[in-house]
Amino acid sequence: MEFIAQRRQRLTQLRRLRPQFSEIFDFYDSLYAFLAKQSGEFLRIDTPPGQVSVSQAQGFPLLQGESFQVDGPAFGAFLRALIAVLQRHGRQGKEDLGRIDAALAEGRFDPAPLFGAYVGRERERFAKTAAELATEPAILEYLLGLACSFALHAAREEGLAPRDGEWRQGYCPLCGGVPVMGELLGDEGRLMLHCGTCGQSWPGARRSCTVCGNRDEQTLEYFTAGDDQGYRVNVCRKCDSYLKVVDSREAGQNLPMDLEDIATLHLDLLAQREGFTRVKRDYAPGEGDKPGLN
Ligand SMILES: [Zn+2]
Ligand SMILES: [Zn+2]
Repeated sequence: MEFIAQRRQRLTQLRRLRPQFSEIFDFYDSLYAFLAKQSGEFLRIDTPPGQVSVSQAQGFPLLQGESFQVDGPAFGAFLRALIAVLQRHGRQGKEDLGRIDAALAEGRFDPAPLFGAYVGRERERFAKTAAELATEPAILEYLLGLACSFALHAAREEGLAPRDGEWRQGYCPLCGGVPVMGELLGDEGRLMLHCGTCGQSWPGARRSCTVCGNRDEQTLEYFTAGDDQGYRVNVCRKCDSYLKVVDSREAGQNLPMDLEDIATLHLDLLAQREGFTRVKRDYAPGEGDKPGLN
């Protein structure tokens, strides 16, 4: 799969550019080696017919919970193999992952409904399932997040795309996910936003906050770290949110943004130290809760 090959290639460059993150990169190396051999065939997507342009105009992303047809046993097998990778190469949550794995092995847990629940940010469903499995909701969500992200990237590579038309929201037109990074493109520095779940990009307004819509330039600022001109952090003093932005004119084009996100953890620390909060899914676990990242 092209998107996995692209990430493995970028990982090689990042190891040279940011040796301080080598342990995190080791983890992603192992993860991509595993994903490169997977097909994502457990997922079939039915895009809704008809009134799409109407719902798009109303701010609904193309994919809804009922769009996902998930083959439960195949998805379960994929998750068990993914858990094995996380247990071998990750750092945290091993006991919780073990409990999820046992429930899958014994047929006590049908993971299929959680696919749409993850994309649709159904907090209650995750809390309930996690309680049944006696596991941390953050670990269950992290696992599902990796699986959903992989399957949606694979589907996009096969041609899945949002419908043409205007989209002015701060969340993804395809799956409703929040931007993981922004990117400045072209001579005039157009802002593109990149979805943290499916990888879809869409145009953002450069002089407004993607979270609260604030357009008051007095309260919109950005900072950079040292002489690293390829990356900046946009902050909004009205809602105290931040968004990391890659300047592709400096850092390079067509970078896989989920990986750029990982490789700029130092910018998260700087922004959070100043009291800014990251734009994230409304029930996302804290950054520090992800196994393998700490
Ligand atoms: Zn998306
Ligand atoms: Zn704001």
